[in-house]
Amino acid sequence: MRRAHSLHVIILISIFHFLFSTSLRGQAEKQAVAFDLLVKNGTVVTMDGDRHIIEDGVIAVRGDAIVFAGPASDFLLHFPEGVQPKQTLDARGKLVLPGFINGHTHVPMTLLRGLHDDVTLDDWLRKYIFPAEAKNVTEEFVRWGTRLAAAEQIRGGITTFADMYYFEDAVAEETKAAGMRGVLGETFIDFPAPDNKTNAAALDYTEKFLKRWQGDPLIHAAPAPHSIYTCSQKTLQDAAALARKYHAPILIHVAEMKKELDDSRAQNGLSPVQYLDKIGILGPDVVAAHCIFVDDTDRKILAQRKTGCVHNPSSNMMLASGVSPVPELRAAGVAVGLGTDGPAGSNNDLDLMEEMDLAAKLAKITKMDPLALNAKAVVEMATIDGARALHLEKEIGSLEAGKKADLILIGLDAPNAVPMYDIYAQLAYALKGSDVETVVIGGRVLMRDKKLLTVDEPAAIAKAREYKIKIEASLK
Ligand SMILES: [Zn+2]
Repeated sequence: MRRAHSLHVIILISIFHFLFSTSLRGQAEKQAVAFDLLVKNGTVVTMDGDRHIIEDGVIAVRGDAIVFAGPASDFLLHFPEGVQPKQTLDARGKLVLPGFINGHTHVPMTLLRGLHDDVTLDDWLRKYIFPAEAKNVTEEFVRWGTRLAAAEQIRGGITTFADMYYFEDAVAEETKAAGMRGVLGETFIDFPAPDNKTNAAALDYTEKFLKRWQGDPLIHAAPAPHSIYTCSQKTLQDAAALARKYHAPILIHVAEMKKELDDSRAQNGLSPVQYLDKIGILGPDVVAAHCIFVDDTDRKILAQRKTGCVHNPSSNMMLASGVSPVPELRAAGVAVGLGTDGPAGSNNDLDLMEEMDLAAKLAKITKMDPLALNAKAVVEMATIDGARALHLEKEIGSLEAGKKADLILIGLDAPNAVPMYDIYAQLAYALKGSDVETVVIGGRVLMRDKKLLTVDEPAAIAKAREYKIKIEASLK
């Protein structure tokens, strides 16, 4: 009896012990996987619908997404103390922003940066860029250019960029390797390109490219018919039909120069926007770079079709193309993002904070009105409106639960950063791309305290210098 009793006790104790230890273990496991990344103590500029700015904010990340963004006090209410993230970023004394979105560029052209400037666009293209591209642009060139651009863009706080170039599948591979998010467009153009010599070849290449990257968390592959002045109606429509078959976006230059407007009026009796609308290109999947020559009717069409526009102030000024009516586009309800364009011949760098500064100042001087476009508006263009222009606003552009964890930490200890009265004004007019210290894309830290973690920067820089010698020799 006594033995049986003590056996009972032992069994009971064992069951208790088992239950207790598994529940403890379960809790410990839960705690361990609760968050992959916690960003705390920073001033969080959310760019959410109410443009909340949170002092002492917390961003909690699980996998590649934000699961909490709010004040530290709320965080402690939502989640009991003792939650251990795998990684923590201390943002004390720093700004935390959604990563910047470069809505229009040609990243492999970093290797042609400064090849020949201060000439007309026509001379630049015919005498320098087209010959240089014909002789030098290979898949290898594109890879090194993309790596160099990744280093430059990450350093400047850019987390997503929209690109238009050749061998875009290689651009996608390098973008993915760097851990960046990209809307990457394979160019369609009615002359033999460095990669595809015919439009049939371009269609075939692009279809494979679109299929390959479908469902990728970072890469959005796209067809990029260059423009109405380099593509026939058929080329434009073929590229658009392919995009729509795969639910991909369409990247295109639109109304970027006066000659394009004049020729379109002469040939089609319509403005570039009206022509693109008439032939069925415009839609809620189109990203239109530049949109300089867009009148009231054009702006209404762009808004109606929910087409995104990307403003490139450096490029427009450097090439003396004209000034996009950004305040009017915004007033019409068009999503307007910001782009660097270039980086060769029309910028020549990939610094989106500089574009914020220039966008505001260009609008002010053009209208002779300091109220034309303000600091907050250009920060919107670099973040949430840039996301809307790329049709990715459900994924990126603000720091909110449910969105991808694409965020940057900006230091506020440099001489140009103090004192700070207004955060948006500081971001637009005082802070520089080089003030960005830490960059996270999809929950992965790509730069920590200005140290790049995913790109071999010295190799990319050395290769850029090698290419310069080779390209110069090829033009002699
Ligand atoms: Zn461009």
